[in-house]
Amino acid sequence: MLILPAMKAPIYSVRMHGCHRKSHLTGAERIVSAADLETVCAELLRRALDHERGRADAVRLSVDEIDPASVRRGRLPDLRTVPAADVREGRCEARRFLCRAGVSPEAADGAFAALSAGAAPGGGNMRGAMIVDADSGRRLEPDPARGVRASRMDLAPAARRCLVLELARVGLDNAHVREALVLAAKVLSAPGIVAELCWSDDPSYTAGYVAAPELGYVRFPHLKSRGGEHGGRAFFWRAGTVPLDATIAFLEKAVLLVDEIGRIEPPSTGV
Ligand code: AMP
Repeated sequence: MLILPAMKAPIYSVRMHGCHRKSHLTGAERIVSAADLETVCAELLRRALDHERGRADAVRLSVDEIDPASVRRGRLPDLRTVPAADVREGRCEARRFLCRAGVSPEAADGAFAALSAGAAPGGGNMRGAMIVDADSGRRLEPDPARGVRASRMDLAPAARRCLVLELARVGLDNAHVREALVLAAKVLSAPGIVAELCWSDDPSYTAGYVAAPELGYVRFPHLKSRGGEHGGRAFFWRAGTVPLDATIAFLEKAVLLVDEIGRIEPPSTGV
């Protein structure tokens, strides 16, 4: 069990990255106590080897001890589901929410087009996210193949137990939703970030979301067609608060442990 903040025992950031034929296959982030370290490493390794899109042929596990004094606490965004009959309607709704969050229509359209086509050069999936200028729609990530990975975030054990129960209550308890909520909590707390758009690259998972500080985590059951292998994330960034380098450093390096969950609304129709 993780005890913070007057903790003497070490805690660790564990990051997993699995590749297949040199392309990104899967990744995951955890923050764990020494007691859970080996179990979690084994779980993440298994996940890379058993992935839906194939068996990873290279897996990198990074384990870094963290200074407990550097750990920030956070809360998950509230979750709600906006029903949509199909992908076209889902994307239309998602675009509307992005615009409500302050993203320009051009920037939203550019992100949908890039994610649909495969946002990495050559049309593959990126390992991380695009950073998109929320006004001009220009892509700003320094490396368009890798993108920027939000890293070093997790749920505290009590919050994880609570989230599992709350999501199960509304029929949404799966790893996609749990992990995406934690990722969104980190992204929305980053300086300069206006909103996030995501849909998965896992062929069987069609849902996606828009997250923004004032909107929370807005889930759409269909943001891509079943069987589609293109997915990814766009982090919309606005100039004027902090330099982009500071936003990227926060996303990659700041440590966030979520110890409070948000409100979880039941979906009204198909999940
Ligand atoms: P997933 O939701 O895990 O299927 O991930 C979908 C896509 O989101 C991946 O292909 C990456 O492009 C991107 N992604 C996944 N994890 C992260 C992360 N921690 N930070 C930034 N982008 C990510």
